[in-house]
Amino acid sequence: MAGTGVSHVPLGGRRYQAWRLAVVVMVALGVLMPVPASARAGPAGGTGAAAWHDAPAASCPWVTSTAPISQRVAQLMGQMSLSQEISMVEGHGTSNPYVFYTPAISSLCIPAMGLEDGPSGVADGLTGVTQLPAGVALAATWDPSLAQQYGQVIGAEEFGKGASANLGPTVNIDRDPRWGRSFEALSEDPSLNSALAVAEIGGVQSQDVMSQVKHFDAYNQETYRNTSADNVIVGNRALHEIYMPSFEAAVKQGNAASAMCAYSMVNGSFSCNNSSLETSVLRDEWNFPGFVTSDYGALHSTQGALEGTDMEQPENTYYGTALSSAIRKGTIPRSALNTMVQRILTEMFQYNLFNQPRTGSTSATVTTPANQAVGTAVAEEGTTLLKNSGPVLPLPASNGGTIAVIGPAASASPAYAGGGSAYVIPSATVTPLAGIQAAAGSGTNVVYSQGLPADTSLPSIPSANLSPAYSSTSSGGSYTGTLTAPETGTYVLALTNPCGCYTSTYLSLNGQQILDDPSTPPVHTYSVAVNLTAGQQYTLSISGQSSQLLWGTPSALAPTINAAVSAAKSASTAVVVVSDDTESEAADRPSLNLPSAQDELVEAVAAANPDTVVVIDAGAPVAMPWLSQVAAVLDAWYPGQGSGTALASVLFGQTDPGGHLPVTFPASLSQVPASTTAQFPGNGSQVQYSEGIDVGYRWYDANNLTPLFPFGFGLSYTQFAFSNLQITPGTVDGTQDVQVSATVTNTGQRPGSDVAQLYLGDPSASGEPPRQLAGFQRVSLAPGASAQVSFTITPQQESWWDDAANGWTQTEGSYNVYVGDSSALPDLPLQGTYTMTATPAARQVVVTAPSTMQPGQAATVQVQLTASGDLTLPDVRLALQLPEGWTAVPAGPTDFTSVAPGAAPVATFQVTAPSYAPNASATVHATATMGNMTREAGVTVTVS
Ligand code: BGC
Repeated sequence: MAGTGVSHVPLGGRRYQAWRLAVVVMVALGVLMPVPASARAGPAGGTGAAAWHDAPAASCPWVTSTAPISQRVAQLMGQMSLSQEISMVEGHGTSNPYVFYTPAISSLCIPAMGLEDGPSGVADGLTGVTQLPAGVALAATWDPSLAQQYGQVIGAEEFGKGASANLGPTVNIDRDPRWGRSFEALSEDPSLNSALAVAEIGGVQSQDVMSQVKHFDAYNQETYRNTSADNVIVGNRALHEIYMPSFEAAVKQGNAASAMCAYSMVNGSFSCNNSSLETSVLRDEWNFPGFVTSDYGALHSTQGALEGTDMEQPENTYYGTALSSAIRKGTIPRSALNTMVQRILTEMFQYNLFNQPRTGSTSATVTTPANQAVGTAVAEEGTTLLKNSGPVLPLPASNGGTIAVIGPAASASPAYAGGGSAYVIPSATVTPLAGIQAAAGSGTNVVYSQGLPADTSLPSIPSANLSPAYSSTSSGGSYTGTLTAPETGTYVLALTNPCGCYTSTYLSLNGQQILDDPSTPPVHTYSVAVNLTAGQQYTLSISGQSSQLLWGTPSALAPTINAAVSAAKSASTAVVVVSDDTESEAADRPSLNLPSAQDELVEAVAAANPDTVVVIDAGAPVAMPWLSQVAAVLDAWYPGQGSGTALASVLFGQTDPGGHLPVTFPASLSQVPASTTAQFPGNGSQVQYSEGIDVGYRWYDANNLTPLFPFGFGLSYTQFAFSNLQITPGTVDGTQDVQVSATVTNTGQRPGSDVAQLYLGDPSASGEPPRQLAGFQRVSLAPGASAQVSFTITPQQESWWDDAANGWTQTEGSYNVYVGDSSALPDLPLQGTYTMTATPAARQVVVTAPSTMQPGQAATVQVQLTASGDLTLPDVRLALQLPEGWTAVPAGPTDFTSVAPGAAPVATFQVTAPSYAPNASATVHATATMGNMTREAGVTVTVS
């Protein structure tokens, strides 16, 4: 991939080296010590209850008070000094018990707050936790109820560890399959993303743990991360329709307590210094009451205090002394700091941090069999059957002859999870091989053949073939040598970057980057297959730190491959488990190819046994050059620690592989929406999101491209039929819902599950892609059984973002409705239409309020619905949503029984901030509801 050779700012150089790496090493050595009692005593220290509260409650009436939270916050803030307020918003370094942290302020009874990764379980090097399947595996279940349980496990384990906030879920859109963090994100589709994120957040927060949804916004690649070269140039329409909805759902429907601003720059401003994202959209438009934390080092100036970032983590580069001197000098008003502190304290009260001190500890064991069972259930439900000719699957429960299990990923080096801050240390693991062995019935014999050497057992490239001889490179170092190939064929090249520092080391062959190893947890050797010709010379270069440069020549690889071939030949079925262990935070993948010579292994085995089943453990789409040669393909994603148990359950048919793809699998990289360097990863100064709203399947459909596997696709061991499409009413105006129902029938011989999907095609004048997901429902049915699935299409789902109007709008005309079980037309057997005859068009809400209000004194606020469209609106209601303790008294009508086209009704309110309101900003938010349609807007006012 061109462009990725440009080195990132070594963000990671600072991080993890001290704290995270130390933890990883200590865990590896089995010497993780309990936190000594002395370290727990100080206000900044601890993980035990005593450390969180060591002042008598009597001096802190806000702790036990039953007054509204806003009043308790104001009372507390009335006692806070400048330096105490600064302590709440600044980072406190990297040697705290949690990756992000604010210490207790004992004199005010303010408890410490620990914020800990991450999206698939408690991360950051802590042990005794459950390693859940990756976010993408959860997304493949299309099952919000399971997402809720997944969130509950995360919340319960964070709580047990004494953390107050979970840094997750990662809801960024999978814009490109090369994105290193695809595995920890959910989907390429905003509505699937939103539904799962809302459910997961609900689960986390049900455990009295805040959810910090991340990373806001348009953060979709690792290359150039946290530098101005990742300057995303994206239109408002794509932001609102593709990159923002999951955040909007997370804060509005999911009530996420917190959000994390991203590393990306969006249209020229870093996300954590971006008032248009953090204030105009997050606060004004969506009325988000929670607090925003910077990603690790993602704040780029003290102005962030005015732009909408409430907390800098983990260092105090801009919000420590720099912020306090800016306040002293008056260049940043005290009200800005107060606003930040008010938002943080409000959530701390909301989540009972004051009155129910956290008693958990980072050394506690929090994994339980029940939590592990949730992980295994997600892995099973998310496993996606992509091909099943024969059908070769499921394997017989007993008397199945010999199963040859093949591949390093089956046992010698399994991949359970992706790398980086989302990496969770498993409490115990079941390898695919162990799972299959445990589940195989009587009369079934399981043999194992590794097929390829583990990367770590490859030899160094000898100096006879590499000149000058390789010697390790240090941080910022490089090596270039000439490799002379001794034979023709497929070689494996492997590189070890030992730093543990989230900083890329690149390996290039003849100038083309073939590996990007960021040395994130779990630090390991990265490998790649290349084809070389005997006698030819190749330039091999390394940029960055490395400790090993290894290889496997064709003749060195041949014996293990041959052994696998003979095992496959004498088996009834060959199960080859392949994996991609190069997906991680801090690096994008140079290609979609599997590491090592796994493709060659699959091809050799498939040639030996027609009943070859390939199991993929990877977090994102991979290339499948062998697809036509194998009988079956199961994508098990990154299944977490229950890997083998879940896989065996699916292979032997105890569980139907009910997963459906949450991302499109491209036929090749030339087909993806961001196929040019300017689009991904950018030209070194900008990243053009020129595909606009045509992301994921929207792009393939709009351009009539046939991917390898379409979004939404997934087979079952049984078959399903769709019938009886009902769409009511057939004619609507743009304020009304449309109801769609259909019947799904299991027409096969086995119980199984399918995901019924509804896609909506807007009239072409809207400029929308041919189809967009508008509803889904997972159904499990006995053979012969039917179920009715029903969906509601809301006016919002028909709306598109009109840049000219700077708001949502709809288009009149005919809407196409499709129901089936993937996004591809051949899988959408039910098709119908309804007609929209008139719309509210681009009528928007405008709020007018004074920029400054005095506590306890009424001010006039006006809410207007602008004039537009050809529809006379019945029953329009204009309303305000105000912070707790504020009042609004209407001065005139707020409800309008009929609003004609061209009319612009106004409602006037007398609004009063409570007399206790601190000198801080607040959002005055307004809505106009018309039938089932709502439009909204807000303005920021300062109370002073
Ligand atoms: C990641 C975040 C993570 C944070 C703390 C950053 O590098 O981008 O997702 O929460 O580190 O570990």
